[in-house]
Amino acid sequence: MAMDAEVKTVCVVTCPMCGHRAEETMPTDACLISYKCVSCGARLRSKRGECCVFCRYGDVACPAVQQGRLEALRSITGRPH
Ligand SMILES: [Zn+2]
Repeated sequence: MAMDAEVKTVCVVTCPMCGHRAEETMPTDACLISYKCVSCGARLRSKRGECCVFCRYGDVACPAVQQGRLEALRSITGRPH
């Protein structure tokens, strides 16, 4: 079985204003709620109820969410319903 359950810390953030894509390293110990596009300077913000800008504008969810999903997967697969 492939080892694809590792948490990704690199996220490609796509700016909704100019479409610029920037590869960013996500902090694993904090959620980023605001991010400035390096191309057009637009200030991206996560909305209330959303975890962070990576979850909203990135191609992968932030590490905290990924870990939450992994935990959920483990608890599902490791325990009969
Ligand atoms: Zn932009």
